[in-house]
Amino acid sequence: MILVPIYQLMVCPYLEYAGATDETDRTAFDEPRAFCTVIDEFVQPMRADICNDRYELSHEYHCEIYREHTDGKDEHAAEKSE
Ligand code: SF4
Repeated sequence: MILVPIYQLMVCPYLEYAGATDETDRTAFDEPRAFCTVIDEFVQPMRADICNDRYELSHEYHCEIYREHTDGKDEHAAEKSE
């Protein structure tokens, strides 16, 4: 059995879920969609898997947006050590 530290199960801190859209040709989503607060855009489902750290993916390792935004710094090290 492989034990995973609890902090690795946290989703990206820049992920939010939203149901509205500003696009006039689209209605509001039936289900809330993953929204990245770094780029202020909804993300594609495959990207949302990274945002949510699903399937052994990690936002810290697999998202270039997160890495560029944090510039290699671990902004949440304090949260992880709590
Ligand atoms: S796209 Fe990257 S930075 Fe944005 S919420 Fe997802 S994992 Fe985080």
